[in-house]
Amino acid sequence: MSWDVSQARGFPTVYGRGLLPPLVAELGPWAAVVQPEPWAVVAPTLEHPPAVVVEAGDLSPAHLDGLAAALPAVDAIVGIGGGTAMDTAKWLHWRRRIPLHQVPSLPSVNACFTRMTALRDDGGVRYEGDAVPEQVLVDLGLMGAAPPELVRGGIGDVLSCHTARADWELAALAGHQQPPLSHPWDDGEAAMSLAYLDELEALAPLLAAGDDDGLRRLMECHRDIGWRCHHLGHARFEEGSEHFLAYAFEHVTGRTIMHGELVTLGVLVMSTLQDNDPARPRRIADAAGTRTRLDELGVGWDEVAAALRQLPGFVREQGLWWSVAHELVVDDAVLAAAHAALHPDR
Ligand SMILES: [Zn+2]
Repeated sequence: MSWDVSQARGFPTVYGRGLLPPLVAELGPWAAVVQPEPWAVVAPTLEHPPAVVVEAGDLSPAHLDGLAAALPAVDAIVGIGGGTAMDTAKWLHWRRRIPLHQVPSLPSVNACFTRMTALRDDGGVRYEGDAVPEQVLVDLGLMGAAPPELVRGGIGDVLSCHTARADWELAALAGHQQPPLSHPWDDGEAAMSLAYLDELEALAPLLAAGDDDGLRRLMECHRDIGWRCHHLGHARFEEGSEHFLAYAFEHVTGRTIMHGELVTLGVLVMSTLQDNDPARPRRIADAAGTRTRLDELGVGWDEVAAALRQLPGFVREQGLWWSVAHELVVDDAVLAAAHAALHPDR
């Protein structure tokens, strides 16, 4: 099955440069939901500043509901930043029924193209809410101003299709189809996982080179994946044990790193443990220039090992979809294989 970017469906999306000033010039009083770095880039360009600036960070439901209650009456909410800003803006829109515009500053996650907010709750992640923006403005100048390594980390939520598809198939073959453990296997939808991988492999060198077309094509993958999650009612083709390892890492360490980079580490480890062509995601990550060395990412091997040891218990406690993680026995051989996946001889 082939896929071309013109098939991307879902939210109205505009690509260009300098998109935010003309948008907000048309708005009445508006609220900016931001992360500090992109906000510092765009704030000086605005002739019509926001009535209120909400800084995104904490994604616990209690904190988000506090923000929603405190938000003054405005005509529009504009999310500006990475996934945390997108998810916070979606929650405020959903709770307050105020029109939403999203301006992602990184091609890092599909949060601007998904309808639910990824809450951090009870030591795990759950999805709630329903937000459809008026439009998503992809400002290639704003993304170009971001540190290149964060742009290149944006492959994670597409690369995850590689391991997620295999987990979905494993669950189907093992008979774990019944809710809440899994969702029915679908040949066509699962084949799309591989089509996204093909597109990612094709665009990876463009992303490494800082080419606008690489950014646009990556965002179109995120857009199509976000639409497909909604259409299917689940994300099995895109979310599996690589995400579960990322969540276990956050749970065990009490911290996180950039989502796309953390998920990329998860794909490299879990594709190895699935015995699922781990050379392919390694090749794509290297071609995109994505950081995967633990020292570059400020991650200790002991942290990854601790997350792996917790993983089989974690996925059961959290009721996550059936995956290779559920029956994993994390012995010395598994730890050695995971270590080797993250420390290739290059
Ligand atoms: Zn993700």
